[in-house]
Amino acid sequence: MRRAQTVEIPISGMDCAECARHVRGAIEKLPGVQSAQVLLGAEKAIVEFDPDKIGLPEICAAIRTAGYEVSPLESPKDALASAEGFHRRLTLLLVGTFGLIVNAVVFGEILGFLDILNEHVPFLLGLTVVVAGGYPIFMDVLRAAVRGKVTSHTLMTLGVIAALAVGQWATAGLVVLFMRIGDYVESFTAHSARRALRELTSLAPQTARVERQGVEIQVPIGEVSVGEIVIVRPGERIPVDGQVIAGHATVDQSPITGESMPAEVIPGSRVYAATIAKLGSLRIRAEKVGEDTTFGRVIKMVEEAEAHRAHLHSVADRFSALYLPIVGAIAGLTFLITRNPLSTAAVLVVACSCSFALATPVAILASIGASARRGLLIKGGRYLELLARADVLLVDKTGTLTLGQPQVTDVFSSCGLSRKEILTLAASAERYSEHPLAEAIRALARCENIPLLEPRYFEAVPGLGVSGVIGGKRIRIGNSRMIPEAQRFPMAAELEEQGKTLLFLEIDGQLAGILALEDTLRPEVPAALQEMRALGIRHVELLTGDNERTAARLAQELGVLCRAKLLPEDKIRVVKEFQARGHTVVMVGDGVNDAPALAQADVGIAMAAAGTDVAMEAAHIALMREDWHLVPEVLRTSRRTMRVVKMNLAFTAIYNLVGLSLAALGILPLVVAAAAQSLPDIVILGNSARLLTRK
Ligand code: ADP
Ligand code: MG
Repeated sequence: MRRAQTVEIPISGMDCAECARHVRGAIEKLPGVQSAQVLLGAEKAIVEFDPDKIGLPEICAAIRTAGYEVSPLESPKDALASAEGFHRRLTLLLVGTFGLIVNAVVFGEILGFLDILNEHVPFLLGLTVVVAGGYPIFMDVLRAAVRGKVTSHTLMTLGVIAALAVGQWATAGLVVLFMRIGDYVESFTAHSARRALRELTSLAPQTARVERQGVEIQVPIGEVSVGEIVIVRPGERIPVDGQVIAGHATVDQSPITGESMPAEVIPGSRVYAATIAKLGSLRIRAEKVGEDTTFGRVIKMVEEAEAHRAHLHSVADRFSALYLPIVGAIAGLTFLITRNPLSTAAVLVVACSCSFALATPVAILASIGASARRGLLIKGGRYLELLARADVLLVDKTGTLTLGQPQVTDVFSSCGLSRKEILTLAASAERYSEHPLAEAIRALARCENIPLLEPRYFEAVPGLGVSGVIGGKRIRIGNSRMIPEAQRFPMAAELEEQGKTLLFLEIDGQLAGILALEDTLRPEVPAALQEMRALGIRHVELLTGDNERTAARLAQELGVLCRAKLLPEDKIRVVKEFQARGHTVVMVGDGVNDAPALAQADVGIAMAAAGTDVAMEAAHIALMREDWHLVPEVLRTSRRTMRVVKMNLAFTAIYNLVGLSLAALGILPLVVAAAAQSLPDIVILGNSARLLTRK
């Protein structure tokens, strides 16, 4: 069986969720297409298809038949700017000219001017004005009609026809004017959701200065390959993820971490694409370029965030699909009862189905885009929604609550080996482990100038330790679950009481040494946990693979419960246990040994995920810097966002309810109904824009 192929197709011309649904429907019904996601904010479709049955040209053709453009594969930013700019100018020109003609009428209506106009200007001239001004809308309605679709424009057009039918061409003209303005506001609102994303994308480096055959040349970022030497001058954006091989600089990492304090980098330091070198030049060996860089992945994840929609979003979408038939029915009833074509037209015109669909994504995309710039990578509205109502917080210990930079405090030998021999074997066995404890042992060996041996075999046992073969000896190093007899070591209990983590070294099945390690609690943790409680988290629990005594001591210090000696799969089980009892679980971890639990939690938050691929992949929310204050901050962000979403939806619902009732009762004049239709969009836009700024 051939594997399905996935492509991303840039699409332009989608102004609201209704359009995105059309495109998706058009693609999905093609034979050979397995799934399609259409992202309004990122303006693209992600299509999975069977290349044996269908090809890219057919998919693009289907998108065009549905009435949308497949953008050429130029830089999407330029395409967007030029197409949008032209379209807008044209619209403004039309609306402006037409507006001037009829603007006087708005004031004139009250003075009876409208009637005079209707009486004295020939009907045909009026019709021409209506058709000229409303041309794009009527084309849209026709295109939809050909596809057998009824859109909100169809209803409004019926309203215009009704006004013309009773000879009120000036009113019809005004309705058309307001429809165009409404469209403009709507597309502006939809595009504004993309603004935060576009601002983020604009930080991506475009070119790099590389050294080839001893000469420095500037090349487009796409031509830099891994392993190449990149040169960065003071004030320039670092174009790749890599390691500094020469030079010193202070680097502004805020594009990734949101942290405004610049960091010092020296040879050996890791640097990330999109960060800025201030004061000082750097030579960097490129390790990741383009989309593979941390920044590239952040952008990709933010772009795709639309795919993980909030439940509320789907509900609103489904409702907006039902909404048009409802409005049609109300209009029908109004006409049957009142026999008044103008009230009927007002019902058709005041309806504003797109606002229901826009209310959620506009707020959520603004929030996700703005958060990404503050070092909070949120992978979808769904997670904001779940986080906003979370009540249980589970926290991993090592590397998450603690600094993850443990220090070896004691080394004991229990069978006559020297301290140096014990350290050599321990550090060599841990040579390839990524665990913070392993790093601590290697650091001590480095510090004491102890050279490492090459293990002939190496295996990490998650939650327990590592085993390997070094110099013909079978070495194991790990906790008392891995080496149970070690518990009998006389000083074990006492060291653990002190909050130390013990690792036991076993050589050929014989306990040979003990290392005690101590890790420090991140200083901001107690305040952050306090804040989480104040925000409504009822239950906090520490989950750790460490021993009971060490864990209990820390838990006590923080005033939380704890479970110790957990394997990675035990952590998943605990998460599931809480979920089964109806809790919404947030889990905070570092991605080392807890990635599966992060994925299982309703919302998995990875600490300090910049540069750690597992954590960024597994978590639903990734915090790009090591700062526990970000945890309550992301919780607050989620609450704020959901509040804005609910306000948007509530306003739209009330507006439509009141508007429809007044129109049906004949209280709302047609012109006012048309003028009012952009109101919900404007409110959604303004209300959601609050999320772009930090409180
Ligand atoms: P936590 O849940 O506290 O983050 P982990 O699940 O990462 O801890 O690890 C749990 C325990 O497993 C550690 O306390 C340690 O005893 C042991 N362990 C895990 N990996 C290693 C390793 N590479 N070397 C030694 N011990 C390890
Ligand atoms: Mg951990």
